[in-house]
Amino acid sequence: MAAERPDITILGGGPVGLAAALALHPIANIRVLESGPAKPEPSADDALDPRVYALSPASRALLESLGAWRHMRKERMAPVAAMHVFGDAAPGELMLDARQPLAWIAEHGELVAALTLAVERAGIAVRHGVKAAGWDAAADGAESALKLQDGSVLRQSLMIGADGAQSWLRTAAGLPVTHKAYDSLGLVANFTCEYSHQGIARQWFKGDSVLAWLPLPGRTISIVWSVSEAEGQRLLALSAEGLAAEVAAAGGRALGAFSLLSKVAAFPLRQTLAPISVAQGLVLLGDAAHAIHPLAGQGVNLGFGDVAVLRDTLSARGPLQRVGALTLLRRHERARREDVAAMAVLTDRLKALFEANARPLPALRNAGMAWLNRRNELKHAIIRRAMG
Ligand SMILES: Cc1cc2nc3c(=O)[nH]c(=O)nc-3n(C[C@H](O)[C@H](O)[C@H](O)COP(=O)(O)OP(=O)(O)OC[C@H]3O[C@@H](n4cnc5c(N)ncnc54)[C@H](O)[C@@H]3O)c2cc1C
Repeated sequence: MAAERPDITILGGGPVGLAAALALHPIANIRVLESGPAKPEPSADDALDPRVYALSPASRALLESLGAWRHMRKERMAPVAAMHVFGDAAPGELMLDARQPLAWIAEHGELVAALTLAVERAGIAVRHGVKAAGWDAAADGAESALKLQDGSVLRQSLMIGADGAQSWLRTAAGLPVTHKAYDSLGLVANFTCEYSHQGIARQWFKGDSVLAWLPLPGRTISIVWSVSEAEGQRLLALSAEGLAAEVAAAGGRALGAFSLLSKVAAFPLRQTLAPISVAQGLVLLGDAAHAIHPLAGQGVNLGFGDVAVLRDTLSARGPLQRVGALTLLRRHERARREDVAAMAVLTDRLKALFEANARPLPALRNAGMAWLNRRNELKHAIIRRAMG
């Protein structure tokens, strides 16, 4: 007979691990193990986090249902009223808008702080500074064992790997992974701008780079600039004024002059996919299962989609079915496959399409964008899909 409240251990206390803890708390005893230190409580004068997320309406609905959304400081978030996408030549231009916000731009630190507060209020145990050292998979129906560096051993019916793109658990469990390096860097930073952004997210596909300007409260924006390694190093070496001038110019000075507000961070861009994301008593969620190119800004939304589906799958299990049963976890994996594959292919192909210089591709992609811009029904179908 399955235990009334099984034990679930979550490795990784990032946005996806914390959301999973809240989502599964009603049906299981949860512990979260995070390798990093506990973060101090947010305060009014916290510096802006250069890493931001475009949270979709589906992610917002999940965060509301988990009791985390109400802890997010509204003065630190901005709704996206519309999205203006530019190709690398005329007539490539596309405007996407809807009656309600397409997304909310929120800082990574704010999101994690809100989830942490909700986790604390729910009385879920989170241990920081934990180092995993060994993994014994669950034999059929039994508990798995996770060995920690302090010598202790934790046993659980279900082990969740939410430990990010370099997932230790994925490797320890011997799950296969495919990597695609893009030889590019993603630069993230925040700026104040001269003119109001009017809640419009702007994105330029420039052939050798993709630049996104994401609205933050007031006259503030966050950027994600995907560039070649060499170009990334050049941009990182610029002075604050030099970088602000280049970012403003790359967007045709659509928002006037910029001034740098935050640190500049850079991440190597690669696609990492785990074609098999479950095993007996184990499931990978979020970036541990699928890290994609940030050009569609969908990484965290995909991870929250995993959490919502796992919650529904485990909650609907039969009275005798264990939370770690492979048949159940495979059902979860099947339910996620289409969304994950669609997003991985979309980001990968978009990147390739806008990098291709062979004629007639540049003319075709820009004409295609202009064509789509005139098809309101198709645009709304795309918007509905992106909103989850
Ligand atoms: C440049 C860049 C820009 C991005 N922009 C966007 C965007 O605009 N929108 C978007 O949705 N996504 C974006 N992403 C992707 C986004 O950051 C990830 O999809 C998201 O953070 C995934 O959340 P996660 O919880 O799965 O993983 P992570 O956020 O990586 O969290 C993993 C957690 O696990 C912990 N951990 C790691 N190893 C261990 C271990 N062995 N034991 C215990 N704990 C461990 C880590 O400390 C961390 O807290 C961007 C990514 C990059 C690189």
